Amino acid sequence: LVEAFRRVVSSGRLAHAYLFTGPPGVGKRLFAVELAKALLCEHPQAAARLDACDECPACLQVAAEVHPDFQRFGLPEEAHEIPVALIREAANHLALRPARGRYRVLILDDADHLSDAAANAFLKTLEEPPPASLLTLIGTSPDRQLPTIVSRCQVIRFSPLPADVLAGHLISEGRVEDPAEAARLARLGGGSLSRAQALADPELLKFRTEWLQDLAQPRHDSVAWAGRLVQIVEGAGKESAARRERANLLLGFLVEFLRAALVLQQGGDVPQLEAAEARAARTLADRLPAERLLAALERSLEATMHVDRRVQLVLALEALADATGQLLRPA
Ligand SMILES: [Zn+2]
Repeated sequence: LVEAFRRVVSSGRLAHAYLFTGPPGVGKRLFAVELAKALLCEHPQAAARLDACDECPACLQVAAEVHPDFQRFGLPEEAHEIPVALIREAANHLALRPARGRYRVLILDDADHLSDAAANAFLKTLEEPPPASLLTLIGTSPDRQLPTIVSRCQVIRFSPLPADVLAGHLISEGRVEDPAEAARLARLGGGSLSRAQALADPELLKFRTEWLQDLAQPRHDSVAWAGRLVQIVEGAGKESAARRERANLLLGFLVEFLRAALVLQQGGDVPQLEAAEARAARTLADRLPAERLLAALERSLEATMHVDRRVQLVLALEALADATGQLLRPA
């Protein structure tokens, strides 16, 4: 992607609007910010090389989000949709002439949460983009956008990161020293750096393995586990964004585990699970019909949606623990 963008920028073919899609933790936001920095950097070669100097006032201002030609918006805390007013403000920002740099750059995070009204408020900007403007929307999938938005943006799909890239990162940022341990965490990360980083916390990994193993127990106590889930989520910090992120991480583990049970039922293998977790998935695969596993999977995805939609976390987690407990009970 970096190479492709380098060619596009140096040949002057940069589009006005991009939609970055892909799973969490694969670098979409980082890429968008680095692109902005390179375009606004005061070093003469930065844009063509797509390599910001990270030292000039412009780079520092973008990094601190105080550059007059750069803005980043996202879902406001406690809102469940991006409000129209925010989009109007964003469109106004883009319409102004660059104050210091050669571009006006806007990043819209959490684009999955654009309301239809907010998306429509964006259409005019997308149809007649102001000169020297760059808008990047960041979301998980084009399916989460109105077709009118997708057709006016260039869609850039970010793939899960290769395991060796993840392992190299975990080592270079000092999270782990042992290459074998880094490789193991990279495998568990399933292509997401943020997930591999989270699992580098031994407590969290231990919790995950115990939880998934216990789900396969005939006497799984869903009330007790609901309490433990809430505790882990609240341990992520006081801010609700951190708690939601942790809840999504846990739900991701569950989704992957149920999917693994289905894969095992079909004769596939599941290298992304710890050995004890894979045994538990095998137990479920042997014990339950595919319909039950699918129902539990669907319920887990629904819970992910609830968390995204800002349903109260404790309620969402308790309801999920109860439902999966029942669905995974011996048939
Ligand atoms: Zn710079």
